[in-house]
Amino acid sequence: MDNITIFSCAYLCCMSQKVRVRFAPSPTGGLHLGGVRTVLFNYLFAKKHNGDFIVRIEDTDQSRFVTGAEAYIFDCLKWCGLTPDESVLHGGDFAPYRQSERKELYKQYAEQLVKDGHAYYAFDTVAELDNMRELLKTKGSSSLQYDHNVRMNMNNSLRLLPQETQQLLDAGTPYVIRIGIRPNEFIPFTDMIRGDIEFDTNNVDDKVLLKADGMPTYHLAVVVDDFLMKITHAFRGEEWLPSAPVHILLWKYLFGLDKMPQWAHLPLILKPDGNGKLSKRDGDRLGFPVYAMDWPDPVNNEITKGFKEIGFLPEAFINLLAVLGWNDGTAQEIFSMEELIEKFSIEKVHKGGAKFDFEKAKWFNHEWIQKLDVNNYAARVKAIFETNGITINNNAYFLKVMELVKGRCTLLPDFFTQGSFFFEAPATIDIDAIKPKWDDKKNMFFMELIKAWQLSTLWEATDIETSFKELAAANTLKTGELMLPLRIMLVGEKFGPGVFEIAAAIGKEATITRIVHTLSLLQ
Ligand code: GLU
Repeated sequence: MDNITIFSCAYLCCMSQKVRVRFAPSPTGGLHLGGVRTVLFNYLFAKKHNGDFIVRIEDTDQSRFVTGAEAYIFDCLKWCGLTPDESVLHGGDFAPYRQSERKELYKQYAEQLVKDGHAYYAFDTVAELDNMRELLKTKGSSSLQYDHNVRMNMNNSLRLLPQETQQLLDAGTPYVIRIGIRPNEFIPFTDMIRGDIEFDTNNVDDKVLLKADGMPTYHLAVVVDDFLMKITHAFRGEEWLPSAPVHILLWKYLFGLDKMPQWAHLPLILKPDGNGKLSKRDGDRLGFPVYAMDWPDPVNNEITKGFKEIGFLPEAFINLLAVLGWNDGTAQEIFSMEELIEKFSIEKVHKGGAKFDFEKAKWFNHEWIQKLDVNNYAARVKAIFETNGITINNNAYFLKVMELVKGRCTLLPDFFTQGSFFFEAPATIDIDAIKPKWDDKKNMFFMELIKAWQLSTLWEATDIETSFKELAAANTLKTGELMLPLRIMLVGEKFGPGVFEIAAAIGKEATITRIVHTLSLLQ
């Protein structure tokens, strides 16, 4: 069977068995929005095919381990509503799901590879490796890799006699196990998004598979665990594409290509200006978050802002990520999770990177604020009010205010800026916006208005509007010229929903008090 036949067979076999996908983060820091999108595409694919979504913690690189990062990843997934079927937290038949707890499993596979002639022991010290690179540099070599060009000059079991290797092993000399990449070969590969790809082995180095501390590297662990956990489809970021040839060879040598999952390498999320991958630095530079949630970095004691905390709804965050590099072929932009599960297909994911546009991201949030019932996010908005010193005692009133102002809100804190005056008189009044057109006639009008309203028993927005307009007509004043002053009296500034609705909501007493206060400032 040629390679191509093997691949198409793998595809069919995979689809007839239960779909199992995985997100395999290394707990090294904040969860980038690209990472959440990888989770999302895995999740959607699993749910669409009634499969399982697994989260496996890839923590074999102890030098990059960051306390709190694992718990943080699970918090982010929870906020996004992307619940794993199996994980460190959720358990499952393939536990443990943390690679550091599976350490003992990997060594036998590395040794099997050595026995079969696909890998070798390498005893090179750090100084020897540095020397090798220096030598390559002085020779003007374009690559400083440990590969077929240099390995026969190094301290490894390919160059040493078998008994020399055995002596070193018996003496407990530290070693790593490296894959032996054969030069001048082509590795064909079918990616579900990119189609057929071919890798030239001359560009691939002899990657370390097992480290001196006995831990596997990512390359060995990812293949062994995808096999043991019966993963059928592996979707990951495009940045992992260069590692694919090593993984394919490991699959071929260890388990057989017919068992290999279907791969899809997802396009990068690009910075808004330029072509590179969107980084945390770009977010800092351009003033928007790139992490899902606030990341309290224990290394430098800094909090990096997250989408959640600046006031995004999870529904909007999921929606905006889904359409970064995917669409269903129609003009539809707003998708709920249920619709995404129904409509998502990995083949429709674009090959090219998707530019991140923060203004567009905010547009999604605005849309979701309108689309969802305010009860869905009222608790979060209430907390924002409370942090700003306004305690909510009347929930019904609070929800009513939220309804009144939600059309003006893009991020959740906007509810506070757009709505605080419903709860307390504005701290400052923009008198300068009233003064230029203020005169005695207008002053008289408002004095009379106060009297009329004090006597009135009706306080619906329409009653307020009618009495206001009737009095204006009686005084031969234009309503339009009186509404701006009234708004500033009640709100403090020139914004907010309908002014009569504001008056109705805050009540007759507060309305009159605010008018009286502003009139005193105009004296
Ligand atoms: N541990 C890798 C990461 O940190 C996972 C890559 C993969 O999915 O194969 O992203």
